[in-house]
This record gives sequence, structure tokens and C-alpha cells, in this order.
Amino acid sequence: YVGKKTSVTLIDNIHDLKVKDFHSGPVVVPETMTVYDAICFMFAEDVGTLFVVDKNELLTGVLSRKDLLRTSIGTQDLNKIPVHIIMTRMPNISYCEKSDSLVEAANKLIEREVDSLPVVELQEGGLKIVGRLTKTTITRAFLFLTQHDE
Ligand code: ADP
Repeated sequence: YVGKKTSVTLIDNIHDLKVKDFHSGPVVVPETMTVYDAICFMFAEDVGTLFVVDKNELLTGVLSRKDLLRTSIGTQDLNKIPVHIIMTRMPNISYCEKSDSLVEAANKLIEREVDSLPVVELQEGGLKIVGRLTKTTITRAFLFLTQHDE
């Protein structure tokens, strides 16, 4: 019975989708970057979230559009404030790994009510950023399923 069979394979397929097959590239900034420069960089890179790294390129924070907006309406000189002052910091960051399923990642996006997760590799001393998993990633995977539901 074709209708039922199709929906079963679709569900199976959903759970086979992995972060590593859909995530986009990492967009990172140093902790010392000013808020002003971070805003320019966010526009230039056309992303909604920047990941912040320390000298060793390890994840220390996340900067969202609203973090930058909030600072912009409350502060005189955006050229004087480094992003590490206003970012959301480790260990309060939700992240995922390449081997995770997209369903797990989607769950974290919804539970934490955030737009994106850093894709990381666990390293001695911290997390190395290897990509970005966003609501757009999930939408792209959703469309992929409509083209491959066999
Ligand atoms: P926006 O606020 O621009 O709509 P988000 O909803 O993603 O974007 O971010 C909401 C808040 O959560 C911000 O303060 C941001 O720093 C923080 N945040 C964003 N992504 C994460 C994440 N993966 N883990 C923890 N906090 C995050």
C-alpha cells in the first residue's frame, strides 16, 4: 500500500539525516573585535549569528542579531566595546557535532529557542568550531526530503 509505505520511509529517512551532510561553514570572530566591527562583519557575511573564539580558536561565545541591537540602543561608543562583554558565553552554549542527527539538532534549536548552533569538534581544552547549523539548514533538509522520499 503505497501511501503508507511512503510515509514510513520518509520517517526513516528523516532520522538518517546527519548534521555533517547539511551544515554550513563556520563564521567566527575574535573576542577582542569591537561591537561596531562585529555588526559590519555580520552584514558582510550575511549571517544572523557570529561565533566568538579565543586566541586558540576555541569557542567562547555566541553573538546574535539581538545581542548587537540591544547594545546599539544602550551604548554610546560601539567602537570601544569588545564583543566578549556582550556575548552569551560558555558553558551556556548549545552546540552539536557532525555525527549528530539533524533531528537532535532541530530539537536543541527549539528547546533553547535559538536560531543557530555551532558545529564543533571536542578537543583538549575546549571546542573547535567546524560549522554552523541554523534554522535554514533544517528548512533545506526538509526540502531535500521532498525530493528524495523513496
Ligand atoms: P536573535 O536574538 O537575534 O533572534 P537567537 O534567538 O539565536 O537570535 O539568540 C537569542 C539569545 O540566545 C542571544 O542572546 C544569543 O546570544 C543566545 N544564543 C544564540 N545561539 C545560542 C546557542 N547556540 N547557545 C546558547 N545561546 C545562544
